[in-house]
Amino acid sequence: MRKRFNQQVTETRVCESSHFRGSHLCRTIGFVVFISMLSFPAFPQNAGSSASPCNVGERAAAFGFWTWASESRVKVYLLAKDFSSEEIPYLLTPLRNWDAVWKSTGSQVRLDYKGTTAAPLDCQNCLTIMRRPIFNEQTRHGSEFEAHGEQGTQIVSYAVILIDPRLTNPKALTNAVAHELGHGFGLLDCYLCKDGSTVMNKLKKMNTSNDMEGPTPCDIAQVRGAYKALRIRVAQAPPARNPPVDQGEEPVEDDTPLVPRQ
Ligand SMILES: [Zn+2]
Repeated sequence: MRKRFNQQVTETRVCESSHFRGSHLCRTIGFVVFISMLSFPAFPQNAGSSASPCNVGERAAAFGFWTWASESRVKVYLLAKDFSSEEIPYLLTPLRNWDAVWKSTGSQVRLDYKGTTAAPLDCQNCLTIMRRPIFNEQTRHGSEFEAHGEQGTQIVSYAVILIDPRLTNPKALTNAVAHELGHGFGLLDCYLCKDGSTVMNKLKKMNTSNDMEGPTPCDIAQVRGAYKALRIRVAQAPPARNPPVDQGEEPVEDDTPLVPRQ
């Protein structure tokens, strides 16, 4: 058996010509990639301590991908025609696992399963999990996270998790969704990370589980870093024309919405 054939089966996509109308993402893709690359030296990426090192590239994924807005409630739907009733529990397990760490990641983002839908949804903070043929010999992606956002920001407005129809093993479905959800919290792929260290690792082989059902301690630490960086970026925004007068009062963290909502 040729090992080379069984490589990477998860990946991220932030732009494609999709059936969604009104997405600004494709027009901003160059900006997104550029910002992501430059953001690495701007914010500390190693969140570990000597006791539990989360070194980026070894046991932790870097961050810099788009994120759901802090404190948002993501409405999660499954495309009804794409999944059997037997598959649904395997898709919901990683949702619960990511939702369970909403406090410890500092994101304050909740994932609310809303049921099945007859069509993909592009409402604010909506996430649709569906199937679409995406695997090919070049990319070898078994699943993808397709983020759509407001132009000029790295905040996810709505997103789709695409799962290739040939990815059918129930446990591998869990692994794939766990991985793609991590992208929505700002995490990038870490295909060279050690097994079990991060959910952002890859499936070594299509339909073979990697036993990753949700975020690891290093994933939680990195998401915390991603949302801290988000706060810093907001804090570094250009000054207002009429700067507010300092009242001598410390701002209360997380007291103010970090991202302008529409
Ligand atoms: Zn990925």
